[in-house]
Amino acid sequence: MAPAGGGGGFRMPEQREQQQWMEQALSTAKEALENGEVPVGCLMVYQNEILGQGRNEVNETKNATSHAEMVAIGQVLEWCHQKGRDLEEVFGHTVLYVTVEPCIMCAAALRLLNIPLVVYGCQNERFGGCGSVLNIPTDDLQYTGAPFQMLPELLSESSISCFCGQALVGYGHCLALVYGTAVTCQPNCPVLAAHEHRLLHYMRNCKWS
Ligand SMILES: [Zn+2]
Repeated sequence: MAPAGGGGGFRMPEQREQQQWMEQALSTAKEALENGEVPVGCLMVYQNEILGQGRNEVNETKNATSHAEMVAIGQVLEWCHQKGRDLEEVFGHTVLYVTVEPCIMCAAALRLLNIPLVVYGCQNERFGGCGSVLNIPTDDLQYTGAPFQMLPELLSESSISCFCGQALVGYGHCLALVYGTAVTCQPNCPVLAAHEHRLLHYMRNCKWS
């Protein structure tokens, strides 16, 4: 299905660009982990310029909706406000790079904003709104913006490994992250259900500091 594109003129980023932006989103995800958050990071890129760079801030803000994407969307809205730019035009030409498949809430927000393309890392088997649980981007939904394109599974192994944070945290922290999120089934460890065995493999092979 054709992307929304805000009236045309949207350029599909080349593979090299996609990789470059995703690597930057991964750095942001690692920063989230270092700050005690579930490691998800994202960028919103408009005409080769980063207008939004978000990471999970749920614990820090005690706001369950402070997902990386919502943080970045807020920054783009602020940029448009300050520059006097048209929201429809800017969002219609902005690409989201995010390390984990957006949840249902974020996918719906992105669709309402008519974003043309989402590039993401690993899948979100528990809460994913881009194919895993619901398919917000392409479903026939009334009054919910325009369909958008997805490019899944870019650097997905790196995205998953952020959840272990091998080089970043000690054993206690990682266990707390695992047990505090996944084992007790709190809704903030989206990939563990699908990749539990892989995560446990990472944990066993970590050189804990
Ligand atoms: Zn979300």
